Amino acid sequence: MTNKSNCPVCLGVDSFERYPDELHGLSPTVDYKFTPTTRLTYEIVECSDCGHQYVSSAPQVEILYTENEDETYLAAQQQREKSAEAWLQIVTSAAPPSSARTLLDIGCATGIFLDKASRFYVVCGVELSEWASKIASRQHEVWRQPVSQQTTTRRFDIVTMWGVIEHLSNPRDEINAISELTNVDGLLFIYTGDRAAFLPRLLKKKWWWYQGMHIQYFSKSGLRQLLETSGFEVVGTRNLPIFFSLRSLAQSMNRYALLKPFVWILSKRPFSRLTIRLTLSGEMLMIARKVG
Ligand SMILES: [Zn+2]
Repeated sequence: MTNKSNCPVCLGVDSFERYPDELHGLSPTVDYKFTPTTRLTYEIVECSDCGHQYVSSAPQVEILYTENEDETYLAAQQQREKSAEAWLQIVTSAAPPSSARTLLDIGCATGIFLDKASRFYVVCGVELSEWASKIASRQHEVWRQPVSQQTTTRRFDIVTMWGVIEHLSNPRDEINAISELTNVDGLLFIYTGDRAAFLPRLLKKKWWWYQGMHIQYFSKSGLRQLLETSGFEVVGTRNLPIFFSLRSLAQSMNRYALLKPFVWILSKRPFSRLTIRLTLSGEMLMIARKVG
């Protein structure tokens, strides 16, 4: 634990407790199993100035990822490939290969998105997990350090962060470093939760993005403010389709008492093997252009 940090969005110093500490000194659960401990969080505060929610006594959760091995991540390979394909279509239509040549995927995990994107771009990844980066680096160039610790002079036309920014204890430093690595007119794609959307407001602390691994809880306006004060101009915001196998959907639903009757059915074959596409309230993709 370090000292309480300022709001990473507006740098405000005043905040109040939104949700109390549930981890009591324990490390958050770093996996995708959605066990009851996955949802336990550190104290989450809300900035009194801009409303951004974050863990202010920021633990260095990044360090946990360096040793993380997650077999459930591999088990969900098929649904991740389908999601990556859908996300790549969004990237190629916003930044066609005719005008964009290089792509950096931050938090590339085992390289599923890099595999798809390398059909169109010269790709490079960033991954802190030794286990995941080893798998990704069989096919691709992968950096093992956060972007803020890179000394490279390389510049990229496209930077993607799929479900990464919510894990960062200092997203402002990372976004500033990403800004340095992005060519003028290059595009940054950030997928994260939008806690001001309808479903999150309805579910409150039961919203699935509230997890111990997550340090930042953005709204559209908060993420926009962060980007616009870091050398980017927001050019679009949209919902992002996600593919789930019914088995993993059942695991996620297990936390909602009302949905439990469905969990049993979905966990059984043949249903568990099916994959469905969902576009849910509260899953946002923000696209921003690097300004000169
Ligand atoms: Zn703030």
